[in-house]
Amino acid sequence: MNHHSLEEWKQYASGELHPENRTAYDHHLDHCDDCLTLYMNAIEATEDELPEIENPSLYTDDLMSQLPFESVETISVKKKWFENRAFHYVLAAAMTFLLMTTGVFSQLTTVPKEFELNERSSFTEDVLNKTTSLLDRVEEEK
Ligand SMILES: [Zn+2]
Repeated sequence: MNHHSLEEWKQYASGELHPENRTAYDHHLDHCDDCLTLYMNAIEATEDELPEIENPSLYTDDLMSQLPFESVETISVKKKWFENRAFHYVLAAAMTFLLMTTGVFSQLTTVPKEFELNERSSFTEDVLNKTTSLLDRVEEEK
């Protein structure tokens, strides 16, 4: 096995290697712990050599504005809306099932009919009463 030197790993870490060589280095890293340690050291070494980013917050803002994602707020609002909808649907389904099994629905459908009947009978009674009283008055006036 051909081990690589720290300098070579630095080149690998900083992307200075030829792509063909990189593949060989990749494979070597998979099987060689010694070189993995060297590689880690190389990363640390190259990180120190990297130019520092001026004004990191500006850099982050710029990066965030370039991201094609929706803001976290929008996502959470959408998620809450969906959760509410799902919750209401499940609740409605559960209530429907409960009402159907307990026979409340059949009672609900009969109640308006009875109400309608009562209303109608009382109305006709009322009209009948008024008519008879009117007739009585007409009879009296006669
Ligand atoms: Zn090695």
